[in-house]
Amino acid sequence: MLDSTHDEHLRSWVASANGHRDFPIQNLPLGIFSPPGGAPRPGVAIGDMILDLAAVPDGPAGATLNAFLASGASPRRALRARLSEALRDGSAERAQLEPHLHEAAACTMHLPATIGDYTDFYAGIHHANNVGRQFRPDNPLLPNYKYVPIGYHGRASSIGVSGGSVLRPSGQRKPATETLPSFGPCRNLDYELELGIWIGPGNDLGSPIPIGEAESHIAGLCLLNDWSARDIQGWEYQPLGPFLAKSFATTLSPWIVTPEALAPFRIAQAARPEGDPTPLDYLLDEADQAHGAYDIALEVTIATRAMRDAGTPAHRLSLSNARHLYWTAAQMVAHHASGGCNLRPGDLFGTGTISAPDESGFGSLLETTNGGRKPIELPSGETRRFLEDGDEVVFGGRCRRDGFAPIGFGACRAIVSDGPAT
Ligand code: CA
Repeated sequence: MLDSTHDEHLRSWVASANGHRDFPIQNLPLGIFSPPGGAPRPGVAIGDMILDLAAVPDGPAGATLNAFLASGASPRRALRARLSEALRDGSAERAQLEPHLHEAAACTMHLPATIGDYTDFYAGIHHANNVGRQFRPDNPLLPNYKYVPIGYHGRASSIGVSGGSVLRPSGQRKPATETLPSFGPCRNLDYELELGIWIGPGNDLGSPIPIGEAESHIAGLCLLNDWSARDIQGWEYQPLGPFLAKSFATTLSPWIVTPEALAPFRIAQAARPEGDPTPLDYLLDEADQAHGAYDIALEVTIATRAMRDAGTPAHRLSLSNARHLYWTAAQMVAHHASGGCNLRPGDLFGTGTISAPDESGFGSLLETTNGGRKPIELPSGETRRFLEDGDEVVFGGRCRRDGFAPIGFGACRAIVSDGPAT
């Protein structure tokens, strides 16, 4: 899986790419962007710039990447090799490509694909433990957790791309202190730190995907914020699970970081603790156990309106890592398709909230503030149990390994608003 495109010494003639925190020439993530005054089109992030893929013969075209995701690994690898050659120092194509470069800061990003279906898993075991403990102190994990990659069908229509605002939802709330529910704005608005998994070719209805082939259906990853209205959730979630507490908004980072870019950062799935069951055969694959996890550092920061007005830097709420997932992405794909359900190109999975074992890496305020009982203090002197209007939440994801250029995901960012969503 490793080739010359991963060489840490590669440099690009796009100067800002060299040493860029997210998008050096070793990353080359794909997305859909509009240049100023232009229509949506495919692009690749390189440093602070975006290269319009119209400049590349036989590259993806159109206003979404669904068709490209459907075509699988072979054209994706070919495009990566081609872009790596064309963008590196000394390339003969520089003069031809330069007119197709746009300042990323001046462009508008869009969702990279039309998302037909969105499924949110629950594979972060520390999150599942922390949340379960708040409801069932003696028995935080239900008996199915270590056998079944738990998930539910989410809402695709309200998925948005980084950079907008998120409208505080209204709904039914019934705190334990009140005898009857009331309808009104959510009081306990939260984020959930997750990875998004973009589905590539997919399967026909009734044709499950064997675990050994599941990787070939993963087209790349992004960051995913599963905004959560905890008071609404607490009242509505039994017996069928989350509904309006989750369906009002999900925010994604705009770039699809490909399996090829992530290849140096694959790691073994952590050994299950003594006494945990071995996954059932349809979820167990030797190669997946050996290389199926990701070493991706995941960060959450917050900047309140007062902090931004005062020029105070964003405050880190959490530093976690994708290695804490209990199930691999391939296991989620194989499990999802095992009942015969068809996955389609551009479908999206959320991994579930990825919390670290200790509180410095909890992936939601529900955990960090222990359900709002332990407010956090911010550098501005403000405190937070949950999110207030004007709070900006930003996720970041970065991969590092000795001998390789670090790469990142770009931001997954949104500001909580009490006005119409944008
Ligand atoms: Ca979630």
